[in-house]
Amino acid sequence: MSMKTTPYWWEEAPREQASNMTPPANVDIAIVGAGFTGLSAALVLARAGLSVAVFEAGQLGEGASSRNGGMVGPSFHKLGIAGLKAQFGAEKTNEILRESVGFVDFLEDFLKTEGIDAEFKRTGRFLGALKPAHFETMAVGLEELQTACGVKGEMVSADDLENETGSDKFYGGLVFHQDGGLHPGKYHSGLVDKVREAGVLLFDHTPVEKVEKSAAGFAISTSKGQTIADQVAICTNGYTGSAFGEFKRRILPLRSALIATEPLAPEVMKRLMPKGRMYGDSRRLVAYYRPSPDGSRILFGGRATGLKDTPEKNAALLHRSMSEIYPELGNTEISHVWSGLVAYTFDHSPHIGKIGGLHFAMGYCGSGVARSTYFGKKLGHKILGQEELGHTSFDDMPLKGKAFYNGSPWFMPMVLGWHRLADRLGM
Ligand SMILES: Cc1cc2nc3c(=O)[nH]c(=O)nc-3n(C[C@H](O)[C@H](O)[C@H](O)COP(=O)(O)OP(=O)(O)OC[C@H]3O[C@@H](n4cnc5c(N)ncnc54)[C@H](O)[C@@H]3O)c2cc1C
Repeated sequence: MSMKTTPYWWEEAPREQASNMTPPANVDIAIVGAGFTGLSAALVLARAGLSVAVFEAGQLGEGASSRNGGMVGPSFHKLGIAGLKAQFGAEKTNEILRESVGFVDFLEDFLKTEGIDAEFKRTGRFLGALKPAHFETMAVGLEELQTACGVKGEMVSADDLENETGSDKFYGGLVFHQDGGLHPGKYHSGLVDKVREAGVLLFDHTPVEKVEKSAAGFAISTSKGQTIADQVAICTNGYTGSAFGEFKRRILPLRSALIATEPLAPEVMKRLMPKGRMYGDSRRLVAYYRPSPDGSRILFGGRATGLKDTPEKNAALLHRSMSEIYPELGNTEISHVWSGLVAYTFDHSPHIGKIGGLHFAMGYCGSGVARSTYFGKKLGHKILGQEELGHTSFDDMPLKGKAFYNGSPWFMPMVLGWHRLADRLGM
C-alpha cells in the first residue's frame, strides 16, 4: 500500500482550487492567513458591515487548521497552575482557567449556531499514566483544576482501565469529560462557506510580502498586487515568516505530525479505543491519538523529527510510538502521513493584541482548534473597538521574544531529542 503524504482529512474535505481574482485597491480590513483565526475574525468583521479581504499564501486552510488532530479541549496552560501563578499571579491565573474551561462549549455553540457539520462529538479525553508517579501527579493536577475552574474529570484506576483503553501500558489514567473531537477539514470548509456568505473576499495562493504604514492606512503588497487597508490582522501562527519579522522573532514554530492507519477491524477498534475518546499519555514528548470520526482507523500524532518535513522519518517515528502503546499495531500499514507547524511562545501562552499598529492573535502552543476560533472572534471585536465583547483574560500579556532569538529555532530538534531520550530512560 502506498502511503499518502497529504492529510487524511483532505480525502473528504479537499482544499479548494486557486481563484484568479485580483485583490481590491481598497478594503476596510486585511487579514493575513486563512486558518481558523483569520476566518473567525473575518466573520465578525464582515457581519459588522466592513469590507474584509483575507490573503492566504497557500490553499485555503493550508496551514495547521486543516492538518490538526481535531482534538478539542480547554487547552489548559502548559505551565500548570503553579507555573501560571508564578508567571501571572493568582488572580490572572484563575481568570485564565475559568475562561479556558469554556472553550469547548464555545466551539460547540459556534458550530451549532452556524450550522457547520464538522462531525463534532463530546467524546471526553483519556490520558494514560505510564508510571505510578505520573498517576499521582495527574490526581493532584485534576483536583487543583476542579477547585480552580470546575473542570469535569475523574481518575481511572488500573482495575478499570480496560473500559477506557486496550493498551496495557498504563498504571491508571484520567478522563476529562468536557473534551471532544471533530473533523478539522470539514470544519475549515464549513467556515470558509460562512465567511464567503458574509461577503469576505478570499485570496488563496496570495502571499503577503510586505505591510507598510501609509497615509491612507496600510499598504499590503501581495504577489497579485497592492491593497490599501484601514487595519490589518496578522493570523499566521506557526507559519509567521520574514514578512512579519516583529512577530516571527517572538514565536517558536514547531512541526507536529500525524499518521492514519489503514482501516482496522471493528473489533480491534472497539478493543483499543472502547469509548472512542480522544487520547494522550504522560510522555514528556507529546503524543495524541484518536479514532477517525467514522471510527474505522486510528490517527496518531506527535512532535516530528525536525523542523524540515520528512514524511518517511515522521511515519517511522510515529508508527514506533503508536506500537509502544498498542503493540498489536506493529505491522499495521499506514495510509497517510502529514505534518504542519504549530506556534509556541516563550511563556507558553497564546497572545492577542497589537504590535507596530498591526492586530494579531497567535501562539496556541499546539492546542488551537477551539482557541484559534475563540481568539479570532475576540480579535474581530477588538478591531471593531467593542471592548467588552473583545475582552479576554489573555489581554495585557505582552508577546515577548528572547535575546538572540531571531525566529529560527535551530535548537529545537536537540531539545526534542532530549525529551525523547528522557522518555526512553523513564525520567
Ligand atoms: C499536525 C498538527 C496537529 C494538531 N492537532 C491539534 C489538535 O488535535 N487539537 C488542537 O486544539 N490543536 C491542534 N493543532 C493546532 C491547531 O491546528 C492550530 O493551533 C490552529 O489551527 C491555528 O490556527 P491559525 O488560523 O492561527 O493558524 P494556521 O491554520 O496555521 O493558519 C495560518 C495561515 O497563515 C498563512 N500565512 C503565513 N504567512 C503568510 C503570508 N505572508 N501571506 C499570506 N498567508 C500567510 C499560512 O499559509 C497558514 O495557512 C495541531 C496542529 C498541527 C500542525
